[in-house]
Amino acid sequence: MPTALNLTGAALTPGAQRSWWLREALAQDPGQPCPPLSEDVTADVVIVGGGFTGMWTAYFLTERDPNLGVVILEQDVCGGGPSGRNGGFASGWWDELHGLVALYGPEAAVRACRAISASIKGIGEFCASHGIDAWYREGGYVFAITATAHERLCEEMVKLAREVGAEDELRPLSAAEVRARCASPAFSGGAFMRDGASIQPARLARGLRRVLLERDVKIHEGTTVTRLDGTTAITPHGAVRARHAVLAVNAWGVGWPQLNRRLVAWSSYIVMTAPAPDRLREIGWTGGELISDFRTSLRYFRTTPDGRIAFGGGGGRARRTVDDMFTHDARAVTETAEGFRLMFPSFAGVPIEDAWGGPIDVSPTHLPAFGRIGASNVYYAAGYTGNGVAPTRVAGEVLADLVTGADTDAVRLPMVGARPPAFPPEPFRSWGAAVVRRAMIAKETAEEQGREPGFLVTQLARTPRRMGYLLGSD
Ligand SMILES: Cc1cc2nc3c(=O)[nH]c(=O)nc-3n(C[C@H](O)[C@H](O)[C@H](O)COP(=O)(O)OP(=O)(O)OC[C@H]3O[C@@H](n4cnc5c(N)ncnc54)[C@H](O)[C@@H]3O)c2cc1C
Repeated sequence: MPTALNLTGAALTPGAQRSWWLREALAQDPGQPCPPLSEDVTADVVIVGGGFTGMWTAYFLTERDPNLGVVILEQDVCGGGPSGRNGGFASGWWDELHGLVALYGPEAAVRACRAISASIKGIGEFCASHGIDAWYREGGYVFAITATAHERLCEEMVKLAREVGAEDELRPLSAAEVRARCASPAFSGGAFMRDGASIQPARLARGLRRVLLERDVKIHEGTTVTRLDGTTAITPHGAVRARHAVLAVNAWGVGWPQLNRRLVAWSSYIVMTAPAPDRLREIGWTGGELISDFRTSLRYFRTTPDGRIAFGGGGGRARRTVDDMFTHDARAVTETAEGFRLMFPSFAGVPIEDAWGGPIDVSPTHLPAFGRIGASNVYYAAGYTGNGVAPTRVAGEVLADLVTGADTDAVRLPMVGARPPAFPPEPFRSWGAAVVRRAMIAKETAEEQGREPGFLVTQLARTPRRMGYLLGSD
């Protein structure tokens, strides 16, 4: 049974209800029903998963060829997974240059970043042209230094952007400049990335769903795909026989043989405050900036139009399957709330009204890969590592182009067909991930508190890098 939390007086039971975003979006527009699949049908393309990846893929398929028969099968409701639960950071990739350059070289790395930048704008344009009020706001992204150990990371990030000719995309901020944008006493400097927009993610997901239904895409919610037989999707009450299949299952990929060595499922949690627009004005955070720190166990936060703070990160854990731990983890909520209280002491009297969590599909490179499984007609996008809002739109375009055989710039992006190193097999993968993750959090907490992290903790936190993964501490 989940534990009821009492955070500043508000009793919170994580997992007892859907995310605040999705409840808000459904209250505003529940949408037309999409009943479960109850018979065998045929289609040109069957898509497993009704999150951003699956829905953007369907959207771009209908753009390429309005006559294609597209079916989406979603075990929950569209946007019921992380696409309707995330922080709503549609953010650029200029902070990912280190990994991108190491994997693909500077030219392809910059191309990938530009594609993500275009995707952010594309989300805004999509919302505007389809009458979707997803609270899209371009406020940029502030990376805030909260520990001396992060100063070097910040400098290297800005330097690398300069070296690839993208100095306009990422620029350093002094402590005063960071605090002018958001006066948290925890911030001692940082950097500003131009590419960053906040959205209400569930409104985007539900808006996408509406547009797809208008385009005659068939959506079956409450329909779990138990396996793919070639490109036929098998569900308990019917099968979809299709020419092409797309796996858009995010962290649930740990249960699919086609994807499981490429992913580890980690949890991330978000707490949401009551509206406090006056307090936001007091700390000067009125520009709509997305903000995060530099921890591996990232803390990320943004505001809403009615003056709330949604604050994510903190105490995620790793697991072998996507189970209740990803939604019902009271300890992770408490750790996230503690992070919030640490960064925003002036919000001490502001209640935390909501909390929820979800799974993140961590890839060995910290970057997603899109492509085709072997020579089959099964396609996938996976490994967003907690940064999928803007990349899923790129993935949707790529997958639609791969399915239709279109020769476009999108299919030549370096993430397409990328083959990251595999994670170790289970049970070592999830055990190792759990141990390393706790070590990273312990190391980063010690650094933030000005303490020297212990030798063992430091070594464990470095293990992934030593094994050739682009994860964890240097
Ligand atoms: C708490 C949290 C905060 C985050 N914050 C951010 C952020 O601020 N910015 C950002 O860029 N990214 C963020 N992310 C990551 C981002 O949400 C994801 O990368 C993105 O939503 C991935 O979209 P998707 O469609 O691939 O996956 P999902 O939204 O997870 O969709 C996959 C869908 O597949 C369905 N499914 C799984 N298995 C089956 C099956 N067998 N049959 C049928 N359906 C199935 C699931 O129910 C799910 O709806 C966050 C994630 C979490 C959990």
